[in-house]
Amino acid sequence: MTAARKRAPSLPSKLYVGTYEFPLKVVPATAPELDDADGMCNTDEAARCIYISALLDTRKRLEIVYHEITHALNFVHDIDEDKVPIEEELISTKHGVAWSQFYLDNPRFVLWLVHTLARIRREQRLGEDEAIAVATPEIKGTDA
Ligand SMILES: [Zn+2]
Repeated sequence: MTAARKRAPSLPSKLYVGTYEFPLKVVPATAPELDDADGMCNTDEAARCIYISALLDTRKRLEIVYHEITHALNFVHDIDEDKVPIEEELISTKHGVAWSQFYLDNPRFVLWLVHTLARIRREQRLGEDEAIAVATPEIKGTDA
């Protein structure tokens, strides 16, 4: 009997940001909630949600997920450019609190993150191996 292949961790369908809950939805690229963007963070109480376009590769999805979560953290932790002046040191302090709490509160997100980073690194390694093979064809197949 062979071991069942483990399913890759998926993006959680809900994120806990401070005392708020943000549903997270991967939607078609044409979904009106995206407003022609790759992602969207709606902080309105009645419509609170993070939307991610389904039409992104692994690397871009990671980038957009972080972008939208940062909006949610900024909302919850009151990091607001309209309340200038806000000093970089204060933003960094707030982000330190916000991200450490976010990771503690969202273990399924951390699983997804670790899996996603490993997948991107694996793809990068495969790309490098192909590039090396193309650049140095004379090395291929020899036993030096
Ligand atoms: Zn944005």
